[in-house]
Amino acid sequence: MTQPFFDKKNDWEEFSNAISDKKAEQEADRSGSKPGAPAKETVIKFSLKPEELESYLNRYIIGQENAVEIIATKVCTHFNRMEIEKSIPDDEKVVGNIKSNMLLIGPTGVGKTYIIKLIAKKLGVPFVKADATKFSETGYVGGDVEDLVRELVHEADGDLTRAEYGIVYLDEIDKIASSGNFYGPDVSRTGVQRNLLKLMEDAEVDLKTPHDLASQVEAAMEAQKTGKVSRKKISTRNILFIVSGAFSSLDDIIKKRMNLQAIGFDKAQNTREEKKNILKEVKTEDLIQFGFESEFIGRLPVTVLLNELNEEGLFKILKNKYSSVVLGKKMDFKAYGIDLDFTDDALRILAKRAYDEKTGARGLLSVFENTLIKFEKTLPSTNISELMVDKEVVLNPDKELQKILLSSIEDDIKKFQKEFLLSHGIFLEFQEDAITAVKDIAFNSNKSINQLCSDYFHDYHYGIKLMEKDTFTITKEAVLNPGDYLNNYIKNNYNKEAEKKEEEQK
Ligand code: ADP
Repeated sequence: MTQPFFDKKNDWEEFSNAISDKKAEQEADRSGSKPGAPAKETVIKFSLKPEELESYLNRYIIGQENAVEIIATKVCTHFNRMEIEKSIPDDEKVVGNIKSNMLLIGPTGVGKTYIIKLIAKKLGVPFVKADATKFSETGYVGGDVEDLVRELVHEADGDLTRAEYGIVYLDEIDKIASSGNFYGPDVSRTGVQRNLLKLMEDAEVDLKTPHDLASQVEAAMEAQKTGKVSRKKISTRNILFIVSGAFSSLDDIIKKRMNLQAIGFDKAQNTREEKKNILKEVKTEDLIQFGFESEFIGRLPVTVLLNELNEEGLFKILKNKYSSVVLGKKMDFKAYGIDLDFTDDALRILAKRAYDEKTGARGLLSVFENTLIKFEKTLPSTNISELMVDKEVVLNPDKELQKILLSSIEDDIKKFQKEFLLSHGIFLEFQEDAITAVKDIAFNSNKSINQLCSDYFHDYHYGIKLMEKDTFTITKEAVLNPGDYLNNYIKNNYNKEAEKKEEEQK
């Protein structure tokens, strides 16, 4: 530790603003997104321009400029087009309209979900995420694809209009590609694709699941009571579907199509950069070759590539004032009244460690937890109110924690010594093993150092004054047994004095 406590340079206002942003984001995380949603059917209005959405996203998203540009543009166009279409009479609407549903290709932890969640939050539309693997053709294994749409209604607090403008996000879509076999799980995967493609275009979904008898009865009773038949279906016409996956072997398919192996492309080192460049060439036929039905891919007119994040990218995420990883950790410590800050050195090491985990920005979270967990456990029981995480803390957390604790105890003991000296004119000198003993007892008793020293030594000044001393050494024994130690000390002192007098009289 070069500088144990942080120098109040931290712009508190900025931090609190960022924390409120973080709270809003967590709220969006928990609930899909429904800021300020009125309870019942609402009039939805969109007017956001692609560049506005892009710059909003770029506040949070690092290293995905290209993807952000395309996603922001297509999302805005989708929602703004719906605005126009609202005014067109049904019989004049385009038949077979293709929506801007999107396919995102990119490894884990690079911001795919984050981008879409932020968009849903900004637009105030409900958002639902699921893994494609949980669905089966018949809907009996993990669920029915139509459940996603019903889930949107739930996320919109029952507001059907808002649900109809929601965003459905399906991850691990590459896992429902078939491998070309005509039996086994492949049949089911193709079936899930077919069920999905109906929804992705324009379908009507029953609000109540056919097998949910209880809700059917409830609806019938409500209709009887109110005389009104409530709406039973919602349309997916305006719902935006975004699917994503890592597509790990897609580059091989593209290479093959482009005949790159034949011209020796693969003999060059298979770097990440190369893989990225090859993926840029992806065409519909490659995705069909990968195992998707052509009709399914046909419903996904926009393909977006997301970059793998390198060490520098991960570092930039940590340096971003909106970074939920750093803010989240700051809030964890702030909950105990401790101001946490990081040096750039420390953040670089953490970014490197996260990069080695190969889970994109997700690695940052686990690296932060692993590094700081002991501090998070121990510091709340001390008087420490600031922690600067620097290179030493990250490299040797156990050793640094001990140092910090010791130095905080030494500071507290110094304070006690000063007060004792001012009140009684006596300097209490603490031996090193006495300090360690105070520390151990303080930890086990949950008492502050000041409280503990006051409890132990508040009567000491009487005895010390009796001996006419102005300095007294606190040993380990004094800490372990304060009363007996002083009494014995005084007795010995008298005996010595008496012996001395005897000697002098002889
Ligand atoms: P995935 O690509 O697997 O969907 P996520 O979007 O869920 O990954 O990323 C997990 C978390 O990592 C996000 O909530 C965010 O805090 C952080 N994160 C990931 N990618 C980025 C990025 N490009 N810029 C900023 N933060 C990111």
